[in-house]
Amino acid sequence: MPIPMREPMPPSISSSTAHVTAATPGCALPGTPLQQAAAGLDACVHCGFCLPACPTYVNLEDENDSPRGRLVLMRRLLDGEIALADEGVARHFDRCLGCRACETACPSGVPYGELLEATRATMRPVRGIPRVAQVVLTVFRHHVLLRAALAGARAVRATGLPRVLARLLPRRLAFPFAMLAASAPAPWRRGLLAPRARATVGDAHVKTPEGAAPPTPVVTLLEGCVMSGLFRHVNDATAHVLAYHGYRSCETQGQRCCGALHAHAGDLEGARALARENIAAFERTAADLIVVNAAGCGAMLKQYGHLLHDDPAWSARAEALSSRTRDVSELLAAAGVRAGTIPIGLRVTHDPPCHQMHAQRVVRPPMAVLEAVPGLELVPLEDADQCCGSAGIYNLVEPDTSDAVLAPKLARIADTHAQIVATGNPGCHMQIGAGLLLSGSGVTVAHPIELLAASYPERGSPRP
Ligand code: SF4
Ligand code: SF4
Repeated sequence: MPIPMREPMPPSISSSTAHVTAATPGCALPGTPLQQAAAGLDACVHCGFCLPACPTYVNLEDENDSPRGRLVLMRRLLDGEIALADEGVARHFDRCLGCRACETACPSGVPYGELLEATRATMRPVRGIPRVAQVVLTVFRHHVLLRAALAGARAVRATGLPRVLARLLPRRLAFPFAMLAASAPAPWRRGLLAPRARATVGDAHVKTPEGAAPPTPVVTLLEGCVMSGLFRHVNDATAHVLAYHGYRSCETQGQRCCGALHAHAGDLEGARALARENIAAFERTAADLIVVNAAGCGAMLKQYGHLLHDDPAWSARAEALSSRTRDVSELLAAAGVRAGTIPIGLRVTHDPPCHQMHAQRVVRPPMAVLEAVPGLELVPLEDADQCCGSAGIYNLVEPDTSDAVLAPKLARIADTHAQIVATGNPGCHMQIGAGLLLSGSGVTVAHPIELLAASYPERGSPRP
């Protein structure tokens, strides 16, 4: 894709509502998260290489909705030229997906994701968090509430009503029901993947699959709140694939939400509290490695070291957890993905989650997983590196921009004539699945690990 070179940022931002305060010498926001992250701003040389990678810039065509424009706004906030309470400026940060495609495109190594979270955390005491986001974050913070909410969602999903309502209601109301419907195990699985018991191996009973070579690391799965609530079939498939590769596994009690939604919304204290609980839980296991099959959660666990870097009691423990974390495809590809034996005759395209491709820089391993499935026809997806518009709860709080970002993704998927879109993140899974459902497409979504698991024989029967 050609890279449009742009004029340097104009001296004033384009938002007509921007309120410019009198400039103050030095930093106008001392002691704030943005001030603490400010060194990252200095790396930006305003080259504009990030612009064509940015979905909000591509769709909204406003420099203030580009990475470069937002970095300039951050600098102006720090310099006191713009007030924190300026709603016009804040909207440009609200509209950012946090997809971090700009980080991959940036030749200067600007840590955009950290700067965005720091900016939102700095703005939060002044402008708060949208009500919808508050409700979601509260539920995800409290384990009992979350389990009840997910149990309710499963019960509603089991009635089949979400699929019906998604077709009857206006799009804005239909979308959440379509997302829920899209989380159900897809029809392609029928007859291919027999129900399998979850790996329920306790800490004291690390299990080696019969016939497997034992010296591989002991692994434990981050069960994930949405993954364990709505995608148990993917967690089962992951346990099956790990066992087939000979990994000994153990279960980790006391896991909590990873805190990604909180960090992205600027609730860094909420994210840190959840991170501490997870660190303590995973320290109690016998596992060498923590395996994650949800890209957003994996990216968050890998950032715990940064999240708690200035907490002397937790920083080393957080770094240790981050260094033990692996995306499931990353783990499998490092040792070589074992080829399946049961042909899966489906035409499949792969949409890499932003938090796998851009935040974790795990690019090739998911393809290696899919290439190990016999009979599977893997077709490339144009602009696969562009966000789908899910971005945590972005599709709930910024539905118009989310729709605008999703539309070209659905068009590119249709161009592939694939039967299945493979993606390794529950948010992307439900966003793309909902979009496909509402557009009347017959294409469904699956996790790459589901497809690989379906090509393996019975659970606990490792290949010789
Ligand atoms: S963020 Fe990176 S790519 Fe974008 S303008 Fe700055 S230096 Fe260039
Ligand atoms: S995180 Fe994504 S949406 Fe936000 S500025 Fe970067 S590329 Fe654009």
